[in-house]
Amino acid sequence: MITKPKGTYDLLTTDAKLYTYICHMIEDFMNNYNYEYIRTPIFEATELFHRSVGENTDIVTKETYDFLDRGNRSNTLRPEGTAGIVRSLIENKLYGNKNECIKLFYTGTMYRYERPQSGRNREFTQFGIEAFNSNDPLIDAEVISIGYYLLESLGIEVNVAINSLGDAETRKRYTKALVEYIKPQIENLCPDCQNRLKTNPLRILDCKADADNIIIKNAPKISDYLSEASINRFRKIKAYLGLLDVDYEVNEKIVRGLDYYDENVWEYVDENGVVLGGGGRYNHLVENLGGPNIPAVGFAIGLERVMNNIKQDIDVELLKNNVDVYIMSISEEEKMYALRFAQNLRLNNIMTEINSAALSLKSQFKVADSLKAKFIIMLNENDLQKGIIKVKDTATKEIVTLDEKEIVDWLLGNI
Ligand code: AMP
Repeated sequence: MITKPKGTYDLLTTDAKLYTYICHMIEDFMNNYNYEYIRTPIFEATELFHRSVGENTDIVTKETYDFLDRGNRSNTLRPEGTAGIVRSLIENKLYGNKNECIKLFYTGTMYRYERPQSGRNREFTQFGIEAFNSNDPLIDAEVISIGYYLLESLGIEVNVAINSLGDAETRKRYTKALVEYIKPQIENLCPDCQNRLKTNPLRILDCKADADNIIIKNAPKISDYLSEASINRFRKIKAYLGLLDVDYEVNEKIVRGLDYYDENVWEYVDENGVVLGGGGRYNHLVENLGGPNIPAVGFAIGLERVMNNIKQDIDVELLKNNVDVYIMSISEEEKMYALRFAQNLRLNNIMTEINSAALSLKSQFKVADSLKAKFIIMLNENDLQKGIIKVKDTATKEIVTLDEKEIVDWLLGNI
């Protein structure tokens, strides 16, 4: 038997229902905020991720799926959504009108070669949004609030952990101080952090293994290094978040794993401490990838973790296919009538199922019952000749006889 690759999963049955429910809900939600859907390729040139996510990040050094295609080009399965969207923005010159904020959202599979465990897959799905062309802290607060309220609409309460990393100059000064502080004590930190000291020192701050280490706890604080402008910007974002009733708290350990972030970053953390998603401002990425100087802010949320969070609370029965009408048939004439009549009902938005497996009457009743059909249409040849149809209301057990011409309107009025 051929089995699925490690770290992947099949989206099946009620999980598939839950997933499509979430996607529909995201679409409706983003529409209210005037965000447009965007889809970019699942693979991109490898260089795109090296230049955006960062050469020394965990994602690029250890986790990408790289492959040479038959034309000997190096491609990478996307490990995240932002790089491809920025590439597309530049390539399609989507940034036309500087006065207009370009607001985009996406859902799609991402690929990271990580050690599979609960909440960590090699193929996973992210929903994300990106807003380009505005550097106003107001848009940061709006973007943060979108993730917060979207999760709330799905029944998930989160706390938003926010931090300011300041501008590039600040990060440089702070990183230097951090390295100077940690270097003499480095052998007391985990092997990963020993590496990070050389490659990506800021990530030492959010190391899970060393989270309680006193060395990290006493490390210099980035807030002491922020410029006046960054402090003001962060203050404004916090004020706007207060205005929007977003539950947030400042956490100086939030640095995020990607190189392109500037200024403010944040994470959505659920009541169990699981990080469902995160984001930040990235004012230099568009320019670094060859586009104009366009500020941007965005986040990504992992849908597997969202699904895990709500699965225990949601009534999966509600997500099952419950049909409006089940049409019973036995003879060939009844089956042909059922086939055509079901199409008529379906085109009128009435969810209909028919006997499509030559079942006995008894089995058809069972299927109608398991599909929780609201009405059962019981065809018989005598009735069909007279142009009438019998409909059973499964809740009241009442059977009504209707003219076949009035049945669509009757069902629409009663389902
Ligand atoms: P990141 O792009 O690493 O900031 O991740 C944003 C969100 O995507 C995380 O909070 C997770 O919900 C989700 N995510 C990231 N990596 C994985 C993974 N390997 N498996 C499942 N979900 C993931």
